[in-house]
Amino acid sequence: MRFYPLSIAFLIIGVLFLSQCGKAPPTPPSYVVEVSPPQPAFSKQRSPENKELKGLSINRSLLIPPGRHGRWKTRRLQPRYITIHSTQNTARSANAAMHATALFHGRLKGRSNSLGYLTWHYTVDQRSIYQHLPDTEQGQHADYEGPGNRSSIGIEMCENQGSNRQQTIDHTARLTAKLCNKYRIPTSRVVPHQHWTRIRYRDGKKLGNKNCPHFLLDHGKPGAKWSQFLKLVDSYR
Ligand SMILES: [Zn+2]
Repeated sequence: MRFYPLSIAFLIIGVLFLSQCGKAPPTPPSYVVEVSPPQPAFSKQRSPENKELKGLSINRSLLIPPGRHGRWKTRRLQPRYITIHSTQNTARSANAAMHATALFHGRLKGRSNSLGYLTWHYTVDQRSIYQHLPDTEQGQHADYEGPGNRSSIGIEMCENQGSNRQQTIDHTARLTAKLCNKYRIPTSRVVPHQHWTRIRYRDGKKLGNKNCPHFLLDHGKPGAKWSQFLKLVDSYR
């Protein structure tokens, strides 16, 4: 019982020692470390993640579990392109969190691809960004076994009913800029899904090029709307 007040006294002396920054501070006892608040290495505003995202954060709480579902087998990816998609799911509930939950539980099957699941890296909506796969693992979102999946990070934009499309596009441009800066990808290598020609894995059938993301294409091809999107990406780089 007598040791208790004594240890409190030591604690206070220890804190006083540290706060006065003596020339040769004694090695702090472990209990002093516990009472010191952790110091961040840099402020949030200056971190690289926030430069382009401007306060938006990436939610990684629902990453597909390693070794399971769409990550039961993995192939390394060195990101050289960014592929932009839109979900074409207009259900009111089809926001980024819903897609993240579906991928997390392995609910999106890819019966015609080599993985058995559909996977991609990020889903963006008017409020949030969810990450599903590490940037360094290949997804199954663009062109089966083609160069799109082998070389690009896939980003899906939500188009759920009632959502703010301009906001979603803006968040997507910010995320794209961040990834381009991080992996030194030129904006010319930010491409719509339409860029990649699809040859179905299951039967080798040529499926052509998909009109995706349809609301950023003109008659199924990159035009004025796509150029405007790339300008927005550039403005955040
Ligand atoms: Zn697509």
